[in-house]
Amino acid sequence: MNAPSQDPGIVIVGAGQAGFQLAASLREAGFADAVTLVGDEAGLPYQRPPLSKAYLAGKTDAVGLSLRSASYLAEHALTLRAGTRAAAIDRAARRLFLSDGTSLPYAHLVLATGARNRALPVPGADLPGVHQLRSLSDADALKAALGTARRIAIVGAGFIGLEFAGICAARGLDVTVIEAAERPMARAVSVETAAFFTRAHGEAGIRFAFGAAVSGIEAAASRAVAVMLGDGTRIETDLVLVGIGVVPNQELAAEAGLATGDGIHADPFLATEDPAISALGDCARVPSRFAEGAPVRIESVQNAVDQARCLAARLTGRPAAYAAVPWFWSDQGPHKLQIAGLTVPGDASVVRPTGTGLTVFRLRDGHLSGVETVDRPGDHMAARRILALGLPLTPDEAADPDHDLKALATRKV
Ligand code: FAD
Ligand code: NAP
Repeated sequence: MNAPSQDPGIVIVGAGQAGFQLAASLREAGFADAVTLVGDEAGLPYQRPPLSKAYLAGKTDAVGLSLRSASYLAEHALTLRAGTRAAAIDRAARRLFLSDGTSLPYAHLVLATGARNRALPVPGADLPGVHQLRSLSDADALKAALGTARRIAIVGAGFIGLEFAGICAARGLDVTVIEAAERPMARAVSVETAAFFTRAHGEAGIRFAFGAAVSGIEAAASRAVAVMLGDGTRIETDLVLVGIGVVPNQELAAEAGLATGDGIHADPFLATEDPAISALGDCARVPSRFAEGAPVRIESVQNAVDQARCLAARLTGRPAAYAAVPWFWSDQGPHKLQIAGLTVPGDASVVRPTGTGLTVFRLRDGHLSGVETVDRPGDHMAARRILALGLPLTPDEAADPDHDLKALATRKV
């Protein structure tokens, strides 16, 4: 494209999934002023999902993770300030101050700062041999450590913990997963889906300690050698991975006086209370029609990508409230879990009889709130469309394997 105008244009803080997608979507929508991405990680923007899947399993390399090439950025006149942290916002002057001592003017500022891993608050959590997984550099350190480890202790039976457990079990390693709740993915999935994965991972040789509180990590020769539980259990290990959730990167917004609290508060158009600042992705708390209008913070690729497209449309003169159906996936051992909708632990479950895998419909106040499938991509896609269109589905229809979901999902409305 031609060189952008001299207008300060749009500055995006965070060159991750949401920030990069916004930059690309702005150009696709014909935005002609400057677009600058400020990212504190080195290198080109990359995808995180393969970090706990194909990348750790050695099935793709770092180049395969990149969202786009350096030549794509150049051809689309997208400026990337990699390895540079945004330190402060002067809202009155519309200027962003950077960690290298420089500053950037903006016409519009977008906060796409993502989230960081929650720290395990016990003695020994910072010992060598204790890992986390958020970034490419975390994944490289974990990959190197896996070369010599035989016994693996994983704290947290969430998505990171279980995907990593599956990879380790496939390598024949000895794996123990320690979880505070009584089942895996307790907040994200139903009792039925949790039971499916407890059984499947158990059959692959993975041990679970549920309802367990980690009290400390023991060291020998300055390295982690055992995870200690509150009941006195000692789990010997060569490598610890902590995957106990994330906290949103909201400090930049809070220090600039914007409303925050489990995320940067934004309206359904992804605008903060400052008309010159928007927020999206893992860091943003946005009202959702799938939560009866309550604000939610969603941590997924779909959310980052669809919010970026929605915001690009508004910033190029086509405003619309964000309304995409939330969905995501997790590859655990040989199984693919797919989730659509937004559920809460109290939602009712209706299990649809299936030959293989699992399909669980979730219902709240008589309407479909979500669906969880394992190795049933057809059911997932049909249910996603039913959710998007708000079509009625009774519990009896959900439970009836002869009730044609695809026909319902594709019928003219
Ligand atoms: P990020 O991708 O985290 O990007 C934010 C960027 O902003 C980061 O680079 C951060 O360092 C940078 N930043 C923060 N503060 C500043 C600052 N002050 N200045 C400059 N830069 C800053 N989701 C799925 O849907 N499916 C999956 O299978 C899946 N697998 C995952 C596997 C792993 C290992 C991880 C870690 C996540 C996974 N996710 C998955 C979640 C998904 O990757 C995130 O939801 C998504 O990356 C969110 O995009 P984002 O742009 O909001 O945040
Ligand atoms: P997560 O999915 O939120 O799971 C964290 C798990 O750890 C929860 O079950 C949590 O229980 C438990 N936990 C919390 N504190 C604990 C403690 N002290 N001891 C033991 N268990 C504890 O988070 P994650 O797996 O760490 O993933 C981090 C981020 O990466 C998230 O944004 C996630 O969505 C993303 N990710 C996504 C995918 C995917 O979508 N496929 C894959 C990998 C990563 P409580 O819920 O009760 O707190």
